[in-house]
Amino acid sequence: MSTIEQFRHETRAWLEANCPQSMRTAMGEGDVVWGASQPQFANDDARLWFERMRDKRWFCPDWPEAYGGAGLDAEQLAVLESEMRRLKCRPPQINLGIWMLGPVLLAHGTEEQKRSLLPPMARGEVRWCQGFSEPNAGSDLASLKMAARDAGDHFVVDGSKIWTSYGDKSDWMYALVRTDSQAPKHEGISLIVLDMRSPGVKAVPIDLISGKSAFCQVFFDGVKVPKSQLIGPLNGGWNLGKYLLQHERKAMSKFGEFSLPSHFDLLALLREYLPQPRSQGELALQARAVACAMDEHAYGLTVQRMAEEGRAGDDISGLMMIMKLLHTEQERDKFEVLLDALGGHAFGWQAPGFSERELAVTRAWLNSYALTISGGASEVQLNVIAKRVLGLPDGKKGVSA
Ligand SMILES: Cc1cc2nc3c(=O)[nH]c(=O)nc-3n(C[C@H](O)[C@H](O)[C@H](O)COP(=O)(O)OP(=O)(O)OC[C@H]3O[C@@H](n4cnc5c(N)ncnc54)[C@H](O)[C@@H]3O)c2cc1C
Repeated sequence: MSTIEQFRHETRAWLEANCPQSMRTAMGEGDVVWGASQPQFANDDARLWFERMRDKRWFCPDWPEAYGGAGLDAEQLAVLESEMRRLKCRPPQINLGIWMLGPVLLAHGTEEQKRSLLPPMARGEVRWCQGFSEPNAGSDLASLKMAARDAGDHFVVDGSKIWTSYGDKSDWMYALVRTDSQAPKHEGISLIVLDMRSPGVKAVPIDLISGKSAFCQVFFDGVKVPKSQLIGPLNGGWNLGKYLLQHERKAMSKFGEFSLPSHFDLLALLREYLPQPRSQGELALQARAVACAMDEHAYGLTVQRMAEEGRAGDDISGLMMIMKLLHTEQERDKFEVLLDALGGHAFGWQAPGFSERELAVTRAWLNSYALTISGGASEVQLNVIAKRVLGLPDGKKGVSA
């Protein structure tokens, strides 16, 4: 048996023995475990699965052992991921630090930053939030104004961030801040990390029309941040932010892979709510559903191919941008079809008497729109893909294709 086959054999045996049966089902709302200083678990199996994977160092399987990972190579990582998919294992925890900041620190952090920030992240002990968007800097992120003023051995941070998901529940934040207000806007930005318990930080939840929201506006009033918490070069934050966002897009499609498609099996639900389509309208709905299911399948196959290209060392950053756009638009189309199929059952939002699942579909429909905005709105993604991936000329300069 080759070394990699031996690894597959051992990995499969370990997962079979250690992943509780209930952790091999699709995640519902409330099942997600967030790595945090005080993690919450829906049940004992979720805790067990979290602890076993943490002790195996498989929260970050391919990170170096010195920083809390298991040091797996690309081939071993692929085997682990495919074995987890085969058993339908849930992710034992979700952690923005691991998915987004971790890769930036590994590539650009100082040795001291890697040794202090990565191991607790790899043990799922810190919940991270992302402080990028501001009230007047969303799609046009480079217009951000939150200032970090040089005060000797530390910065003093003033301003606010908005749409910070779970800002009130997070332990630490990574944030883009303005460190030079005179420089061209992309060149005066830095990336810092900060403790959300620092004096002067206040996270205020934002209410939405759906009644439930993870969003916060976070206010910073004279917050002291040691200079050792600057990541990468001073005023070099823009490129690090772009690098980080590539990982956000990758993470978003990975999260989708684990949860939505199997949780809401489009065709199964359609058969249930529309068992015998007869009218023109019903037949058209059925055709839309089949088209969505085919797109979903094609997307899954393309993700697999892309992952293999990535492991082979190809640059897939452009493809990741395209996939984020495709995936979020496909999910939204899918939930539009589901909502149409549910008909009156989709009004659970407004009245009692509807099943949990019907309510969940309506919620997921609303959320599918949010995902076309987070990590870069679709229209802006199209602009970025046109310019940076396809190399098309910038229309604003009057250059025609
Ligand atoms: C679910 C969710 C989670 C989020 N979590 C976080 C988080 O944790 N941290 C964080 O920092 N931010 C977060 N955000 C914010 C997100 O990054 C911003 O909402 C996004 O960048 C868009 O910015 P905006 O909301 O200011 O919209 P705007 O930038 O005002 O855009 C409004 C509309 O105009 C369009 N538009 C803007 N510019 C152009 C253009 N040049 N060409 C064509 N159309 C354009 C957009 O596509 C959009 O439809 C989250 C958002 C969502 C929905």
